[in-house]
Amino acid sequence: MVDNGAMEITLTGTGSPLPDPNRAGPSTLVKADETRILVDAGRGVVMRLAGASTMPNQLSGVLITHLHSDHICALGDVITTHWIMSQGIATLPIHGPKGTAQYVSRVLDSLEPDIGYRISHHDLLRNGPMVEVTEHDGGDHFSIGDVQIECARTEHAPVAPTLGYRLAHRGVVAALVGDTIPCEGLAKLVESADVYVQTVIRDDIVRNIPSAMLQDILDYHSTVSQAGQTAAAGGVRTLVLTHMVPPPTPDQYDEWRAIAAKHFDGEVVIGDDLTTINAD
Ligand SMILES: [Zn+2]
Ligand SMILES: [Zn+2]
Repeated sequence: MVDNGAMEITLTGTGSPLPDPNRAGPSTLVKADETRILVDAGRGVVMRLAGASTMPNQLSGVLITHLHSDHICALGDVITTHWIMSQGIATLPIHGPKGTAQYVSRVLDSLEPDIGYRISHHDLLRNGPMVEVTEHDGGDHFSIGDVQIECARTEHAPVAPTLGYRLAHRGVVAALVGDTIPCEGLAKLVESADVYVQTVIRDDIVRNIPSAMLQDILDYHSTVSQAGQTAAAGGVRTLVLTHMVPPPTPDQYDEWRAIAAKHFDGEVVIGDDLTTINAD
């Protein structure tokens, strides 16, 4: 039971594709009373879930924003641990864009030897992991537990399709939008949100790093300024920055916050792993 608010949002990973000892891969946990929803499943997510007092078998469902590996590489761990800890009897709902069902089925294929070993070793286990995948195209409304969810297409080309999510519970709204540049779908998701979690890059820093592959990321992520602009235009209450490239050290947080604050006068949170926002 969540005591502190209608929704508790914990950053279970604030990293990017580049390994970082202090930042797990991108993922966010939303707790709303008894409902627990995981958005994306980046590197190390199951360890960070444990840090947020949540075991995979307590998850009510998983939302996937897109099929970039940094956002889904630990989904197999979530599925396996959910299966084992629920002793095989619970189904894990997974929602995502087109392609999610094929990805999950390939993850299950890769787990085939493990699934066989465990079923033959544990009398309690009669079946492999049970998952229920639903693919969305944007504009869909559905619920997981007590949380009402709306999804919209976002813009992260050439990665497509990509989805962002708007979660509502007891009057509180959180927009968890994944990797995207400002676009119509994003504007819709963040409209009057209490909390808006955005993956961001610092284009001014990245531009000066002599790496062709890093230059490539400039055109498909929101910058910190753009996140501030989106937050201001949507009238959101709290902007949370995550998946920051390059990752700031704590002494740089004020500078990052100031860039967003040029456009947005609400609260700006620079995410660390396990940073938690209570919204009521
Ligand atoms: Zn991405
Ligand atoms: Zn990413």
